[in-house]
Amino acid sequence: MLIETKDLKKHFQIGRKQTLHAVDGVSLQIEENEILGLVGESGSGKSTFGKALIGLHSRTSGTTTYNGQLLPAKFTAADHLQYSKELQMIFQDPYSSLNPRMTVLDIVGEGLLIQGQTKRSEVKDQVALWLEKVGLNADHMSRYPHEFSGGQRQRIGIARAMIIQPRFVVCDEPISALDVSVQAQVVNLLEQLKQDLGLTLLFIAHDLSMVRYVSDRMAVMYLGSLVESGPADDVFFNPQHPYTQLLIEANPEPDPETERHHKYVPIIGEITSPINLGAGCRFADRCPKVMSHCRSVTPKTTVVAAKHTVNCHLFE
Ligand code: SF4
Repeated sequence: MLIETKDLKKHFQIGRKQTLHAVDGVSLQIEENEILGLVGESGSGKSTFGKALIGLHSRTSGTTTYNGQLLPAKFTAADHLQYSKELQMIFQDPYSSLNPRMTVLDIVGEGLLIQGQTKRSEVKDQVALWLEKVGLNADHMSRYPHEFSGGQRQRIGIARAMIIQPRFVVCDEPISALDVSVQAQVVNLLEQLKQDLGLTLLFIAHDLSMVRYVSDRMAVMYLGSLVESGPADDVFFNPQHPYTQLLIEANPEPDPETERHHKYVPIIGEITSPINLGAGCRFADRCPKVMSHCRSVTPKTTVVAAKHTVNCHLFE
């Protein structure tokens, strides 16, 4: 196993009395050379979890182990420098994640210069190489971000993360700001890089069919907690948790022919506020199968099939 969290929590204090439970006790393992897809509605804590995993957010409690080493709860500047060689992130919005005043050469080459292990004269060659690898060309390095399309900017973001040759990359909704026609290209590029470089990826997204396509395993998050995880096809075709079932029902089909016969069942209500949460199942207010004790007793993790777990009282 490459990375593991145990009961990871990330809370934010709001004023003196309120606590926002963004991530509230997530235990997860990611194997080497695996793509784990993490899904859930906006506000479920996916991005916060991804950032806490690689030290971009401090942890409130719990542990993260990377390659057998316990990562610090709060990274210092030296920790960031040390671990950024191996732990990288590709951000959601290719428009705001690239500095508009920097050229592509400076953006993509910055990480190498910070690491200090590549001579300045060699950085240009490395940037040219990586621009080619992500489907751009070396001539693009003197241009600025505004001269590119959304899909091209995301490729620049991917080159920036990959040039360091990391071992683990958090891809935080890397396709949601892109046109549908470009999404598959970027996903295929990530898969290719995973195979070529032996990468391990956490792929965060809300498009379940795309996550199933790209991932080996899938985990579903609701209001800061994991509700289901397992092999991607098992979770997608045989979802067990009421939330996962509704999420998949509400997910548009990529195939127009299947889409015509798809019966939408929207998830009722909105995700509850993650402020000052108490005991009980977080999904109780929206669950069509809610029982009386769901509101007071937090469900345990139950194994329902090989490597497939669910957090719901229906399975205990
Ligand atoms: Fe629904 Fe209860 Fe299961 Fe929560 S624990 S998902 S409320 S049945």
